[in-house]
Amino acid sequence: MEKIIDETVQGTALNTKKGKNNSRKLYIESYGCQMNFSDSEIVASILANEGYDTTQNLNEADLVLVNTCSIREKAELTVRKRLEKFNKVKRTNPHMKVGVLGCMAERLKSKFLEEEKIVDMVVGPDAYKDLPNLIQEIDEGRNAVNVILSKDETYGDVAPVRLNTNGVTAFVSITRGCDNMCTFCVVPFTRGRERSRDPHSIIEEVNDLWEKGYKEVTLLGQNVDSYLWYGGGLKKEFVNASDMQKATAVDFADLLEMVALAQPKMRIRFSTSNPQDMTLDAIKIMAKYKNICNHIHLPVQSGSNRILKAMNRLHTREEYFRLIDDIRELIPNCGISQDMIIGFPTETQQDHEDTLSLMEYVKYDFGYMFSYSERPGTMAARKLDDDIPEEVKQKRLAEVIALQREHCKYRTEEHLGKTEEILIEGSSKKSDAHWMGRNSQNIVAIFPKEHYKVGDFVNVKMNDCTSATLLGEAVDYSDNN
Ligand code: SAM
Repeated sequence: MEKIIDETVQGTALNTKKGKNNSRKLYIESYGCQMNFSDSEIVASILANEGYDTTQNLNEADLVLVNTCSIREKAELTVRKRLEKFNKVKRTNPHMKVGVLGCMAERLKSKFLEEEKIVDMVVGPDAYKDLPNLIQEIDEGRNAVNVILSKDETYGDVAPVRLNTNGVTAFVSITRGCDNMCTFCVVPFTRGRERSRDPHSIIEEVNDLWEKGYKEVTLLGQNVDSYLWYGGGLKKEFVNASDMQKATAVDFADLLEMVALAQPKMRIRFSTSNPQDMTLDAIKIMAKYKNICNHIHLPVQSGSNRILKAMNRLHTREEYFRLIDDIRELIPNCGISQDMIIGFPTETQQDHEDTLSLMEYVKYDFGYMFSYSERPGTMAARKLDDDIPEEVKQKRLAEVIALQREHCKYRTEEHLGKTEEILIEGSSKKSDAHWMGRNSQNIVAIFPKEHYKVGDFVNVKMNDCTSATLLGEAVDYSDNN
């Protein structure tokens, strides 16, 4: 089953083109969500101007940066192990400096620097433009820290360098932070309050990607549907905006349309949505433009109204069903995927069965399922005992995963016999004679290479499948080339 948090890329050292006069080496590893991988591209861009090229060889690094994730305890433990490894290398390579970026930096700043002394630098997600100053501090032998969360930083003016790119698909950040305050989630504390990026800088980045040969962009944010540009500043301060600002504000549906029109041959995806912020307008725009992919990642977290309320998800299961019905009516072949949290405090067997019955109703194309991990500082950690025994969590999680697997197979099989447009991203991992690409619904398809090449849009007839992968043969170029 596919993963948003793609375990195969977690922790890979990211690489980019060499700068002409760069003499220092940056080794940068990323963990967690797509947003973190996208942020690392902003960091690499800022540091390229400071004389750093990226390297994948830890031993030659002058600066090691780890872009970290706090969403579950397991993610933090993985990073801790890496920090121990970097400290070992540091003993044989004393000029090497180590910095922690991202969500763990925000959460564990003083612990890392003062108590444990395992890093030289701690930089929160809104402070990357301060990196040149912070690096100067550590070059002069002092520890450096900046974890100030910003009201308006969106890095709209930084052109990211693309790390480990396939040259075909790229991420474009459109919002930062989150205001939703789901009781289980650490994001509002580590990434700050929600703000949106200037649409003109988004369009500029998309146009630039097209000119460089990219064929697909994913608009990224913790909660993209909540996008709102009214001249800058926090979303929650929109109520204080002037009449003119309110009248000319750009919401997510407007932005989607602007991007779709700016590059009509470019595929557009977005991630992640929150059901409470998804609008009919945005769904109508998806239906209207052929180049917006027919896939919505729509995390629900639970199928029980009682648990949804305890999670501070601002919708009921019935409202969620209505949204699913609207999507299916307006975009009949839309792929829908989910995130689910299993074993949230107080979850009963009945709540769990509500989750299974919600899944039966939607029959998601794929999903990302996690057992609840208590995160310090969140409302759930403060108010509720993590009272579901681990073996119950694991048993329920296994049931949810098994059901998702069935639905995944059911949805994949719906594509058999059809001819669908696939954008070629690269060689199949399993066979060099086959291409790998995705259809509009984000399902991976594999087919013989013939004369086609990376970046081509190809019509592929789907002959066979595994539970999550389509196997086919190319018919011809699609009319999108
Ligand atoms: N916009 C998304 C939403 O609607 O909730 C948030 C994306 S969140 C960064 C990624 C996923 O991590 C969440 O959807 C949730 O399933 C999972 N997650 C967040 N906090 C968690 C926790 N404390 N324990 C387990 N899983 C968690």
